[in-house]
Amino acid sequence: MKQFKVTLFACAVTGAAILAAFVHTGQAQTAGPPDHPAVTVHGHTYTPRSILARNMGTPEDQTTQFPPHKIIGNIYYVGTRTLSSFLVVTPQGNILIDSTFERNVPTIEKSVKQLGFQFSDIKILLGNHAHGDHQEGDALVKQLTGAQVMVMAEDVPALQAMKPGGKEHPIDKVLHDGEAVTLGDTTLVAHLTAGHTPGCTTWTMKAREAGKTYNVVINCSLRPPAMLTPPLVDAFNRSFKLVRSLPCDVQLGDHPAQYNMQEKYAKLQNRGRNPFIDAASCKIEADIEEAMFQAILAEQQKAAGSVTH
Ligand SMILES: [Zn+2]
Repeated sequence: MKQFKVTLFACAVTGAAILAAFVHTGQAQTAGPPDHPAVTVHGHTYTPRSILARNMGTPEDQTTQFPPHKIIGNIYYVGTRTLSSFLVVTPQGNILIDSTFERNVPTIEKSVKQLGFQFSDIKILLGNHAHGDHQEGDALVKQLTGAQVMVMAEDVPALQAMKPGGKEHPIDKVLHDGEAVTLGDTTLVAHLTAGHTPGCTTWTMKAREAGKTYNVVINCSLRPPAMLTPPLVDAFNRSFKLVRSLPCDVQLGDHPAQYNMQEKYAKLQNRGRNPFIDAASCKIEADIEEAMFQAILAEQQKAAGSVTH
């Protein structure tokens, strides 16, 4: 179990570092996750390596501000080009979901201010999952805002080990599967969707716009690691089923590429129908990751079979 957690914690962090290294050196063939198996989903072909590259982009993408914008209702985007950070605004103060890397916190603060809100009005800080590209900045956000940091129980060990500059990871409240977080008129529900990390959290909430109410789902990463243990297989199977069962009109994710943010943002400029309201695309990321999960599993079982026979 200990090894299971350590391996998972290392995956995205080292993956990102390796990706950053090969972007600089051009040695793509020797680093990062493997370029097999390949799966084709909705007309696009993916490998573990291409999915990580799609998620992370370049080191510059990870730290460059994306234009902050309203997504729907009281939900705003305040992240970088490839690392999501969402601001949920209520009359009793605001909620931030994902601090991302610590070095991005000033960029998030700038985005919050550009939208006309105060960074110090952030009362609650939530997270997607315990990897550095999503929650490394928690201590700095807490220091700057005094926000209550609420984390999923199963991710506590990995978060406690995440200490940028030696800072203790703040944890004010430990959440459990199905628990609600309410501030003002807004309630977010934490759904445990384990696999990518043990405490990977999919957040759901309702957003109101033009007299209608919409179901918003902020997916946790469903990206499987290169090696699937039996407990991980069970976790992913449960998570795929759960994610598919959630009512969804607007799907968001921890990396903007998971919901085609750039494409939807471009449409937003046309001032037509809100492009983020797109129930038809809600399950695409689950389709891609589940196909990859099955392909990795099949490849692993085939390799195991060839050893025993
Ligand atoms: Zn991750």
